[in-house]
Amino acid sequence: MANYPEYFNPDMELLTRPEIEALQLQKLKKTVEHCMNSAFYRQRFAEAHLKPEDIKSLDDLRRIPFTTKQDLRNTYPFGMAAVPLEQCVRLHSSSGTTGNPTVILHTQKDLDMWANCMARCMWMVGLRPTDVFQNSSGYGMFTGGLGMQYGAEKVGMLTVPAAAGNSRRQIKFITDFGTTAVHAIPSYATRLYEVMQEVGVDPRRDTKLKTLLIGAEPHTEEQRRRIEEMLGVKAYNSFGMSEMCGPSVAFECQYQNGMHIWEDYYIVEIVDPETLEPVPEGEVGEMVLTTLNREAMPMLRYRTHDLTRILSGPCPCGRVHKRLDRMKGRSDDMIILKGVNIFPMQIEQVLMQFKELSSQYLITLYTTDDNDDMRVDVELNEMTDDYNFLQNLTRQITLRLKDEILCTPKVKLLPKGTLPQQEGKAVRVKDERKHFA
Ligand code: ADP
Ligand code: ZN
Repeated sequence: MANYPEYFNPDMELLTRPEIEALQLQKLKKTVEHCMNSAFYRQRFAEAHLKPEDIKSLDDLRRIPFTTKQDLRNTYPFGMAAVPLEQCVRLHSSSGTTGNPTVILHTQKDLDMWANCMARCMWMVGLRPTDVFQNSSGYGMFTGGLGMQYGAEKVGMLTVPAAAGNSRRQIKFITDFGTTAVHAIPSYATRLYEVMQEVGVDPRRDTKLKTLLIGAEPHTEEQRRRIEEMLGVKAYNSFGMSEMCGPSVAFECQYQNGMHIWEDYYIVEIVDPETLEPVPEGEVGEMVLTTLNREAMPMLRYRTHDLTRILSGPCPCGRVHKRLDRMKGRSDDMIILKGVNIFPMQIEQVLMQFKELSSQYLITLYTTDDNDDMRVDVELNEMTDDYNFLQNLTRQITLRLKDEILCTPKVKLLPKGTLPQQEGKAVRVKDERKHFA
């Protein structure tokens, strides 16, 4: 490591493409073999008339059936385990953004691998033992809590497990402990800034903040830039999901040009969510992940429902691990309004271009007189009673939205603090339609 101070694990981070592929094949074969200890995968392979020995190349991965969230639910809680329960030391459960919770088991080795990978991500964005790291994620079933905690300790930072909520206390910790790095979901990062303003804390003057790790929910580039501007920090996008451990699956490096997905941990495929065939290189599709290091619950070709694409070209940081584009959303987040497909992020992207608007917004779908419609409520940074100004701004936003999403929502400008605040991930869409499109 002495020769490569910028890398946490240079042996893995600096693999060349042929080395990555050779390692992946070796690990894939091992994983598939290990999956035969799982009742679920034994049956899956039998049904597909497939044997572990049939997987001879990385291309053979495509012969393996997909694993879905429904499979996890069907085998709830422990039916997918590939080791006896007494070898497991922890379980996490997905926060259940969409539907029932699912259970993910971990052995001690799984947790160690996870902490190492997390530390690698943190090191990559420049965090060092001299940093003070504060985590504003809930500690518990949500993997953003413990996942980040163990990674930060592995880096050797002083960690402040502040956990979710209580923004004033959060800010007091930041100022009193000299916090330099915070992990927050993007909607909460914005909230923190608002509360700083309320209590008269200027992040640039009164804190040592320099790095934010933001992830766990979709957000636009515009939103990121706003967070950086507000708090005077660099904000790095972090992707994770409980089924793949949690945070650390993919992370931006200091160049902020997409998230490196760690290919010594995962094989990534991008498929057409309808046909399930691979999309041409560089096109958007559903991300499918295969774990390569997991003991308790290996997962083969897991359908994430997250839509993204692989960015091409080398990264100046020297890592060839593939880069994922910012998540477009989940395929099941897509709004279908009057036959038009709309992603909430398209709306966010438009809203964030107006500096008069705050980052808090809510999209409501509703029915009047048998007609489905959309309303976009958005908070203003500063309320005014200048009627002409408000009317003009509303018109401009509506026009820009129409250009982007091809239908005309009702736009409503609200004073700050009007929209409901969530403890966890932001709820951006409320569907109150009587009949669904
Ligand atoms: P749940 O599925 O209940 O939300 P998780 O905490 O496991 O529970 O959430 C994982 C999901 O969160 C991902 O599948 C993805 O949709 C979303 N997500 C995580 N990180 C990001 C990110 N950086 N950008 C966009 N979406 C993200
Ligand atoms: Zn890079």
